[in-house]
Amino acid sequence: MNTYRIAAIPGDGIGTEVIAAGLEVLAALATRDGSFRIEPVHFDWGSNRYLREGAMMPADGLDQIKPFDAIYFGSAGDPRVPDHISLWGLRLAICQPFEQYANVRPARILPGIESPLRGVGPGDLDWVIVRENSEGEYSGAGGRVHRGFGSEVGLDVAVFTRSGVERIQRFALELARSRPRKLLTLVTKSNAQRHGMVMWDAIFEELKGDYPEVTTDKMLVDAMTTRMVLNPASLDTIVATNLHADVLSDLAAALTGSLGLAPTANLNPERDFPSMFEPIHGSAFDIMGQGIANPIGAFWSAAMMLEHLGEAGAASALISAIEQVTGAGRVRTRDLGGEATTAEVTGAVIAAIAGANA
Ligand code: ATP
Repeated sequence: MNTYRIAAIPGDGIGTEVIAAGLEVLAALATRDGSFRIEPVHFDWGSNRYLREGAMMPADGLDQIKPFDAIYFGSAGDPRVPDHISLWGLRLAICQPFEQYANVRPARILPGIESPLRGVGPGDLDWVIVRENSEGEYSGAGGRVHRGFGSEVGLDVAVFTRSGVERIQRFALELARSRPRKLLTLVTKSNAQRHGMVMWDAIFEELKGDYPEVTTDKMLVDAMTTRMVLNPASLDTIVATNLHADVLSDLAAALTGSLGLAPTANLNPERDFPSMFEPIHGSAFDIMGQGIANPIGAFWSAAMMLEHLGEAGAASALISAIEQVTGAGRVRTRDLGGEATTAEVTGAVIAAIAGANA
């Protein structure tokens, strides 16, 4: 029997609620399957720890989680802590040293879910956004001088390296090739940003020849937003920089019905380090502690984790269970126009998983 050790880092706000729900669902899948076990270990890292001890995670935190098979992450963000501290102190502090350079964000309209786009249903919007996750605009390079003076300067330097661009573009080309439509759109802003972005375009021209089966096209990021809204069916796999894909994937999540549905995988494709799986949404303090957070983004992220661990059967059983529940439309959280609680959605998904056994 395979046993997977999972580092569970629920983090802040509704992160704690949806990760607890996700672990329940994972346990139900393991029981149904009978051929693997999930062993979660909890780490209470996040903003409460920062307020108590001055750091989001302990100094040897990376050593603690490195031996795990995967990381299941909730969210980091708290109104009492500046956003750049909660982000850099936890999520980015894990992603960057663990070389989780491929951030994969599927966006698909689930059965029974209504897109805010008129006349767009399941099948009309089925994308995977690949976000460069280790450098670019979020490299952390820069500085601030003459603080508080009229001459103050703030600099954020986008760092693009050939090796970093090549590895994410190859990852996206391979992913596109594995999908039925074999279609990849490169997003840059190479008209206005004439160095790093032009390099992105040039490297793409070099690499795409190695993938003759993949049809490619190119968009500027501003035009991409309108194409996503006006012609979603024309897109399939998308690759973009850290910042651009961050923005586009929030738009994508909203177009698929709710931020609460969307998943993310932060992959270290070489498997030198554990990969990290998390719902796309943040800590949503406005609904925290009420038991009404939509756990489906966390469930879908758990399915991506199972896929990465090699449990494709359990991953697709979980996706079918999610689709059964959204398709039936009876048990929905408030963000989807329903009244159901996190626990009720979790129960419905677990019942669907058990039903799949019958
Ligand atoms: P952060 O600052 O941690 O990035 P946030 O609290 O600013 O996050 P998000 O979590 O990204 O915001 O979400 C914005 C809003 O969408 C929330 O305030 C909440 O109302 C809603 N929302 C997000 N996730 C969910 C969810 N899982 N279930 C229900 N509503 C959600």
